Amino acid sequence: MMKVYIVCDIEGVAGVADFKKQCMEKGAYFQQAMRMATHELNALVEGAIEGGATEIYAWPGHGDFPGGIDVELLHLECNLVMHAGDQGPAGFDESFDAMMLHGLHGMAGSGGVLAHSFYPFPKNIWVDDIKIGEIALNMATFGATGIPTILVTGDSVAINEARSLVPRITCATVKWPLGEKEKLGALSVRRAVTLSPKKAQQAIKKAARESMYLIDSIEPYTFPDEFDLKVEYVEAKYADNFASAPGVERIDEVTIAKRCHSLEDIIF
Ligand SMILES: [Zn+2]
Repeated sequence: MMKVYIVCDIEGVAGVADFKKQCMEKGAYFQQAMRMATHELNALVEGAIEGGATEIYAWPGHGDFPGGIDVELLHLECNLVMHAGDQGPAGFDESFDAMMLHGLHGMAGSGGVLAHSFYPFPKNIWVDDIKIGEIALNMATFGATGIPTILVTGDSVAINEARSLVPRITCATVKWPLGEKEKLGALSVRRAVTLSPKKAQQAIKKAARESMYLIDSIEPYTFPDEFDLKVEYVEAKYADNFASAPGVERIDEVTIAKRCHSLEDIIF
């Protein structure tokens, strides 16, 4: 038995480079982006099975339903966690052997393709002195249950971010950022070069298979038992929302801080 959980996003999928047209539900190319994401996920699932996975769950983490995956096209052997909200992955426990990150993007300000941290409003998030984004929080969420993250797919910036946290993680790079084009909150839209979807699927399948052989040699990534969270927003009104929450300290107009004793204490 080898159980694998896949956290999916859409911004790091090959062929996806526009937030409004491809990543928002009403965007003219959203359905196509979902199909491309699903084909990539299916390739990842194929590779994981070739590498020994016997039970596979995927959580489409790009917002609540449909979350960026087209369930109709889903691989025969992949279970989908549905309608789990966008509060983080659901439906996993210590019986899982590994987590994989599919279609991830770099943190806000990182210069990656469609880089952002959660909603487009947090500009910087720190855990103690380490700047974190979605990659680190997902890794830590599974790490807290003893589950290692063995694979990441996405643009080159997302890959570097994951490697800085888990140096031996297996990677498939499908896109590279060029110059900046526009900003939406703290989300930066950049010109990009992408692999063709089919080439990306090949690379992802191979990486997923190889990553399975590392399950026993990668340590789960964790945050300290207690840590200082600091969140800087693009505008003061977002900091206002949390300013009177319990345990929250207002550092300046756009920044809040909180002492956290577990991942559940995290706000942003
Ligand atoms: Zn997303």
